[in-house]
Amino acid sequence: FQANRDRAAPLLAKLKSDGIGHMIGGKTVPSVSGQTFETKSPVDGAVLASVARGTAEDIDRAATAAATAFKSWRDMPAAARKKLLHRVADAIEDNADDIAVLECIDTGQAHRFMAKAAIRAAENFRFFADKCGEARDGLNTPSEEHWNISTRVPIGPVGVITPWNTPFMLSTWKIAPALAAGCTVVHKPAEWSPVTADLLAKLAKQAGLPDGVLNTVHGMGEEAGKALTEHPAIKAIGFVGESATGSAIMAQGAPTLKRVHFELGGKNPVIVFDDADLDRALDAVVFMIYSLNGERCTSSSRLLVQENIAEKFIEKLTARVKALKVGHPLDPATEIGPLIHERHLAKVCSYFDVAKKDGATIAAGGKPHDGPGGGHYVQPTLVTGAHARMRVAQEEVFGPFLTVIPFKDEKDAIEIANGVQYGLTGYVWTGDMGRALRVADALEAGMIWLNSENVRHLPTPFGGMKASGIGRDGGDYSFDFYMETKHVSLAR
Ligand code: NAD
Repeated sequence: FQANRDRAAPLLAKLKSDGIGHMIGGKTVPSVSGQTFETKSPVDGAVLASVARGTAEDIDRAATAAATAFKSWRDMPAAARKKLLHRVADAIEDNADDIAVLECIDTGQAHRFMAKAAIRAAENFRFFADKCGEARDGLNTPSEEHWNISTRVPIGPVGVITPWNTPFMLSTWKIAPALAAGCTVVHKPAEWSPVTADLLAKLAKQAGLPDGVLNTVHGMGEEAGKALTEHPAIKAIGFVGESATGSAIMAQGAPTLKRVHFELGGKNPVIVFDDADLDRALDAVVFMIYSLNGERCTSSSRLLVQENIAEKFIEKLTARVKALKVGHPLDPATEIGPLIHERHLAKVCSYFDVAKKDGATIAAGGKPHDGPGGGHYVQPTLVTGAHARMRVAQEEVFGPFLTVIPFKDEKDAIEIANGVQYGLTGYVWTGDMGRALRVADALEAGMIWLNSENVRHLPTPFGGMKASGIGRDGGDYSFDFYMETKHVSLAR
């Protein structure tokens, strides 16, 4: 704990004195308007830094810088681009410990999880660095009279808009493939967590990324974010955030015919059948909602458990939830840190009353938690006695909040699992592989894990159905979004 604090102290002092500017065309600059906003720590409400508050003018400067840099970045030999992106990964790895503590203080996420997040971020860069050039390979499908060659070219400068949950890792997940595809980027990070986005822009510059290839404009969603989605030089928007914001972005981008890629909300089911390895299932159920403060799009926030094992399973689960350690995010023993913002804490806590009004039972938690620093802590919460139509079984709470819904049989489980507007992930626990595959086939979700918690393999497709998203990331799927497919016919 003390070692983490000692590491954080000088970084925070420097952050406070330097403040956070935009990164535009390789330079750290204030907003044209001179406006700023304060970013505060969820741990104790301390002001971490004064941050440049971008407006349409700043977005215009950044989009122009990205457009200017585009041609030479697009035309850079793949081997050179690959080398540069590996250098960004090196820089992230070299600074992983600093990134981890800053992320903890800026977002409230526990260090035990954030220590790995920076490593994952470096992997994102390495994986896509190695794919540089691959996406441009042509495909020849000759006909009688022509050679027909399909190629892919980068779409142009793109906008990347990211949320505040695990912001560093998540930003690299969107930015690395865009850069590998040959696009230049304007990044608008979440206003509640600007610290590590600033660090990423600086590390990328130090690693030698040419000026204008990765630009960062901080600010509010409805101001800087909106301007980015409307800018004519920006050809596509990769967005991660709430479903309602996705709808707004689609409308904002319509006049300039923006291509959009959305990773949105979820209300993901974990389904536990009576023939499952119940000890493993219990571990996974706890991990997938109470890690990362439950502020995780892929969290399994609905537990569907078979009726005949429900009582015993819930009893063990309740004991596990009550034993979770809420505390300071830099304490390695902490499992749940403070939530990102007082507004988000109020939202999560509002569901305690919603659950009670709907007639459900709060079996564990159900109150704010008095944690170190007096920040936005909440007790990990377990709601039982719920049925599928209740609000706590339908709405994304996005906190350490799990709703348990018993089911009778396979058909019942599938119906409940699919009975929400979302369709991001599903988790199935059963000893019967035939059933596992049948249920996976029937679930309306973009990603399904059988007898496993969420483990990412970077070449595989990542994304959601229904209100959980449009498009897929990962491997070559990312290049489908960041590139145009071009067809060339040559007479034989
Ligand atoms: P949010 O939608 O409020 O904000 C996300 C980003 O969009 C922020 O940078 C914000 O400034 C910007 N924004 C807001 N309004 C905008 C507008 N009108 N135009 C342009 N940009 C705008 O989301 P959040 O609260 O920061 O993040 C939590 C949400 O993100 C949850 O719903 C969660 O499920 C979702 N999420 C999804 C995935 C996924 O992969 N599916 C991953 C992480 C988070």
